[in-house]
Amino acid sequence: MQILDGKLVSQATKDLLAKKVTELKALGKKTPHLAAILVGNDGASETYVASKVKSCAEIGYNSTLLRFDAQISEKHLLDNIQMLNENADIDGILVQLPLPKHINEELVINTIDPSKDVDGFHPMNVGKMVSGLPTFIPATPYGIMLMLEHYNIDTKGKHAVVIGRSHIVGTPMSILLSRNAQPGNCTVTLCHSQTKNLKELCLQADIVVAAIGRPNYVTADMVKDGAIVIDVGINRIEDSSKKSGFRLVGDVKFDEVAPKCSYITPVPGGVGLMTIAALLKNTYNAAIGEKEHLN
Ligand code: NDP
Repeated sequence: MQILDGKLVSQATKDLLAKKVTELKALGKKTPHLAAILVGNDGASETYVASKVKSCAEIGYNSTLLRFDAQISEKHLLDNIQMLNENADIDGILVQLPLPKHINEELVINTIDPSKDVDGFHPMNVGKMVSGLPTFIPATPYGIMLMLEHYNIDTKGKHAVVIGRSHIVGTPMSILLSRNAQPGNCTVTLCHSQTKNLKELCLQADIVVAAIGRPNYVTADMVKDGAIVIDVGINRIEDSSKKSGFRLVGDVKFDEVAPKCSYITPVPGGVGLMTIAALLKNTYNAAIGEKEHLN
């Protein structure tokens, strides 16, 4: 069993980007600039945004964090996105989700200029991704593809079972894995809460991607020997031994599943770090006017 080490791979990606930014700066070109919008005080969202902003600084990007309280009106939020769209110094815009209930998430995503949509959630970019055109690929599935690529894992002809069909993880993951590319060329089964025989399907999988949001949901009896397991889940569970009062666990019961796997991602230290690396890659591409193209 080999651990797919998000720390190692994300650092390699960040080192490469830092080098490229130094080159850009030496040529007198624009420094990539990411703008992040955070609405409210959700603890997990605060942590995610803070690490994105910190990672920008680490590799020499500029970043701007706009914080609004949870009561912000939808109009005020949209006006601010519009301002960022029109600001030529900003290359990438991300709005940390979820947003408070009174704000229409779809409208917010649709307002972001597609050429600055480094999260890849705008319908125009989703359409391009589905069509196999160069575009911004949503950071979490993109990060997973970078991880598979880094470890040179041959995915061709493998049966991938993706559990979870969200627009930000499961659905784009299923599209990328089924592409005619490496990594890709998988036969994909996309599962969700209405799927019957989830366990039987998982047992047939050469690759399991768990993006469910339920702690320790995937157990050893659901995974066949030698499978590759990608755990996307980030779940907080109470732990009084921790200062914070909680610890993070994935959607996969790591201790019992890992011994059966050929490869597995840990939580923390796996997909989460790759998500940030992929976002930074998208931001670099936005700054130089290129889109990643996995085909
Ligand atoms: P969502 O809640 O949007 O989607 C969860 C998906 O899981 C849904 O499609 C849902 O089905 C499905 N599901 C729920 N219960 C079951 C079940 N019992 N059996 C089968 N399918 C089920 O979550 P996200 O996709 O946003 O996130 C998933 C997890 O990944 C979370 O833990 C989240 O924190 C984490 N995450 C991690 C990231 C990272 O960087 N590592 C980034 C983004 C998310 P249905 O559609 O039918 O409701």
